[in-house]
Amino acid sequence: MTSTLTIAQDLIRKASVTPDDQGCQDLVADQLQPYGFRPEFMQFGDVRNLWLRRGAQSPLFVFAGHTDVVPTGPETDWVYPPFSGEVIDGMLHGRGAADMKGSVAAMVTACQRFVDAQPDHPGSIALLLTSDEEGPAVDGTVRVIEALIERDETIEWCLVGEPTSSEHLGDVVKNGRRGSLGGTLTVRGIQGHVAYPHLADNPIHRLGRIVSELSSTHWDDGNTYFPATTFQVSNIRSGTGATNVVPGEAKAQFNLRFCPDSTASSLKEKIESVCREHADHFEIEWSPLGLPYQTLPGTLLSAVEESLCETVGYSPRLSTDGGTSDGRFIAPTGAQVVELGPLNRTIHQVDEVVSAEDLELLSSIYEKVLMRLLS
Ligand SMILES: [Zn+2]
Repeated sequence: MTSTLTIAQDLIRKASVTPDDQGCQDLVADQLQPYGFRPEFMQFGDVRNLWLRRGAQSPLFVFAGHTDVVPTGPETDWVYPPFSGEVIDGMLHGRGAADMKGSVAAMVTACQRFVDAQPDHPGSIALLLTSDEEGPAVDGTVRVIEALIERDETIEWCLVGEPTSSEHLGDVVKNGRRGSLGGTLTVRGIQGHVAYPHLADNPIHRLGRIVSELSSTHWDDGNTYFPATTFQVSNIRSGTGATNVVPGEAKAQFNLRFCPDSTASSLKEKIESVCREHADHFEIEWSPLGLPYQTLPGTLLSAVEESLCETVGYSPRLSTDGGTSDGRFIAPTGAQVVELGPLNRTIHQVDEVVSAEDLELLSSIYEKVLMRLLS
């Protein structure tokens, strides 16, 4: 059996910058086919996805993840070349080491050991891998899930390998993610001379009032698992460049990270009503919505917490913070979704690293989760 570390190194050496998979999924399929996993490649647009299932019975347990990585930036900024997969002092270096080729390797070896020990396990195991998590995420997990729904393949439990840990392996486990709602607001006024303001209508002033009100709005209180909803403006653009001209329009890009106590429609309604209050002419172009999800304590969360505690000796803190993940596409099917992966301190940075020892521990935790749920 190839070690978790070697599989992770082999994956890193394939420069799979999103959405180009570069053969990572073939490598995973080759590793698991001899163990009775049946590979099914699902191509949507430029994106290659892999559905790799062992067994036809329910309940179905799924490891979900991605084989694509974010670009490296200038490779000369890296101490070790980003696609060399070097191991120095117990640390595996390279783009995707932590996000999330290390986890994918851990899933593979966990499945192999589990199948060796329990060849006739009840239920089924599958891996759902996409090469479009770091990109627009429109032809990836979401499309695979649509295909699975179409043919009534129902996921009971899903463990996502995103790097959730903060200081120590498994100190943070995610049992949900906030929703993401964003858009571009354009406020239109009347262009004019700054010395004749009565003949102009300044959209910057109107936009300023809107931003001021929205940024101090109390959206909700959050709940046990979720922090309160937040509103942030990321970009504002306006002005002709001349100092004596009131511009004709002003634009702001904004984003809300929201807790499930608020709904996208209630947030949209509130934003539109604040805009109406301060501007006669405006439009909002909404970006694709990321829905929140939440997995309450239950079979999967217990299995993950117990397996983790048994391996590392401490219990995780449950969290729903950070960006969105592909869990948002899986949870709406009714699946319990939990995320557990290595330390996220260096993800998307130069000199991304992961501890080789942590990858073996992670593999062991994943295996124990399978043991608890499918034996
Ligand atoms: Zn990731």
